[in-house]
Amino acid sequence: MSTERTFIAIKPDGVQRGLVGPILSRFENRGYKLVAIKLMTPGKAHLEKHYADLAGKPFFPGLIEYMNSGPICAMVWEGRDAVKTGRVLLGATNPLASAPGTIRGDFAIDVGRNVCHGSDSVENAEKEIALWFKPEDLVSYKSAAFDWVYEKA
Ligand code: UDP
Ligand code: MG
Repeated sequence: MSTERTFIAIKPDGVQRGLVGPILSRFENRGYKLVAIKLMTPGKAHLEKHYADLAGKPFFPGLIEYMNSGPICAMVWEGRDAVKTGRVLLGATNPLASAPGTIRGDFAIDVGRNVCHGSDSVENAEKEIALWFKPEDLVSYKSAAFDWVYEKA
């Protein structure tokens, strides 16, 4: 069984709007396993590193200000195809283009207040997990639901 991991974050608007529970539930309900979680305000330098690929974009300063405006709930979720399916659960970057049933399609309107982040590739997931968590923050355990979620390991 692939132990693919993805970095998912509930942005400050999601935390302030009381959406930590509902967003967590989408991943739990789907069958993914939570392996790390912490609430943090990591500061501008860390956020600029996280979004380094977007540094040249006109929305970059506003994005960093938004991400730095309150606590972020940082998480690592594990399971089959976790990166790609995590993005499907989040919905499109612009919430107005997100299908109902996705997190952004159910909880957001503006692209600059789109409540959640998810890694876009396995390679970036590994980088983001290493940026946001220490190796010992990632908890190793067998989910009691494993054999009910997966037909074959
Ligand atoms: N963003 C924005 N305006 C844009 C595009 C993106 O404010 O026109 C913000 C938005 O919060 C988005 C984040 O920048 O989630 C990162 O952009 P990316 O293209 O990586 O989208 P994501 O991977 O989050 O769907
Ligand atoms: Mg992205």
